[in-house]
Amino acid sequence: MKTPSGTKPPRHRTATTLVTAGRDTAAQRGFINPPVVRGSTVLYPTAADIHAHRGEYQYGRHGTPTTKALREALMALEGDNCAGVGLAPSGVAAITTALLAVLKAGDHLLVTDNAYRPTRSFCDGMLARYGVETTYFDPLIGSGIATLFKPNTRAVLVEAPGSQSFEMSDIPAIAGIAHSKGALVIDDNTWATPLYHRSLDQGVDISIQAATKYIGGHSDIMFGTIAANKVGWPLVLDSIRLLGVCCGPDDVFLALRGLRTLKVRLAQHQASALAMAKWFAARPEVDRVLYPALESDPGHAIWKRDFTGASGLFSVVLKPTTAKAVDAFLDTLTLFGMGYSWGGFESLVVPFDCSEYRTATAWAPGGPTLRLHIGLEDLDDLKADLENGFAAFNAARQV
Ligand SMILES: *Cc1c(COP(=O)(O)O)cnc(C)c1O
Repeated sequence: MKTPSGTKPPRHRTATTLVTAGRDTAAQRGFINPPVVRGSTVLYPTAADIHAHRGEYQYGRHGTPTTKALREALMALEGDNCAGVGLAPSGVAAITTALLAVLKAGDHLLVTDNAYRPTRSFCDGMLARYGVETTYFDPLIGSGIATLFKPNTRAVLVEAPGSQSFEMSDIPAIAGIAHSKGALVIDDNTWATPLYHRSLDQGVDISIQAATKYIGGHSDIMFGTIAANKVGWPLVLDSIRLLGVCCGPDDVFLALRGLRTLKVRLAQHQASALAMAKWFAARPEVDRVLYPALESDPGHAIWKRDFTGASGLFSVVLKPTTAKAVDAFLDTLTLFGMGYSWGGFESLVVPFDCSEYRTATAWAPGGPTLRLHIGLEDLDDLKADLENGFAAFNAARQV
């Protein structure tokens, strides 16, 4: 943005930051958005320049005007404790790049038992092969995590709320203990985004987002971001460089384009999800709704303390019923698509069962579980769709 020369850019509130951060109108010759720069080679004008690696850009993998704009915008959003943001080709790549940044052979890692399943697969697969031991912990452990530390515990990975089961971890308490033991804290902050949870202000050293979800916001990119404080950033940057992590220019552009409207989209996802969560909670077929924004949720107090909003993703536990009834419900819905991922403009539903992979805690909700993403459709249309689903559910239960 235009800043009169010699003056410091003013501090803005988040809505303004989302619109203005990372924009360099003069460099874009007046255009508002950066170009989609497709580039590998950067030419140096003189031998002296190439000897000195002089110039703002050296090589496509290390950055382009497109990645610069997105990284600057994300940095402004992550807040004053953010020392840098790295870009990754998927949310999983962001997580694995962050883990590889801090761990080495012989280290011990603590991971929340409600972590995104592919995160667990990486720990149990590749990290185990490279000599890193993982211990899973109860997401509700809080400061009780102290007893799980070993002399070689190097990092703790949290995810709050868990992206299927929605337990709220006490991240500040866990971070306080981790730092007293010399360990770093990595947070998968995909559910809230930095708009509703400033991880780096809550003791987290490295904050991940699957930008595939709300940053992209339109179900049209795979993307990840890795924000870090001054302790984590040199490690993350090193990992990105050594692993050769980089993203395609179209996806970088689309991530930035999505970011500009994050605030209005999330506000609508939140309002609709809260209304739908209450609607589900009042249904006779539903045992309970797992959504920290509901006052009845066990994680509500922590959510209220540490988060400034809730996104559009929650789960419901149905009263015990037949698998046939649940399938009839799912097969009848037309506005709720069945599929993985979330965070786009559209509503989604998936059945899930955490008992398949949990190891530190038992998952026994007492009935079938469904995860819903509430999109930007009209609420009455969504309710009518779900009412049709429950009619089919109840009909299938009778036979
Ligand atoms: C989707 C998701 C990821 C992985 O993101 P991809 O872009 O699909 O690799 C990681 N963490 C959470 C919580 C997610 O929902």
